[in-house]
Amino acid sequence: MPGRCWLWCRRENVSVLWIGPVRTPSVAGELYACGQCIAELVHLVREEQRRRSLPPERICEHRELERRAGGTFCAGCQRPIHL
Ligand SMILES: [Zn+2]
Ligand SMILES: [Zn+2]
Repeated sequence: MPGRCWLWCRRENVSVLWIGPVRTPSVAGELYACGQCIAELVHLVREEQRRRSLPPERICEHRELERRAGGTFCAGCQRPIHL
């Protein structure tokens, strides 16, 4: 259906799709956007999901060392440490 895109492009009279209800502290309504902006939104949502599903990159400083048969290992990441 033709209407106004509520997202980034703000175009009027484009074919838009209903995305869902919007709710802010002061107003509630229905959100519509064009295909291009929906694609952008989907991209953002996927990116965010990917970011959340990945554990934050942990940089090990190998602070604590462990001596075991065969060598020295980091107590944190278990990597062998060559001194
Ligand atoms: Zn748009
Ligand atoms: Zn380590």
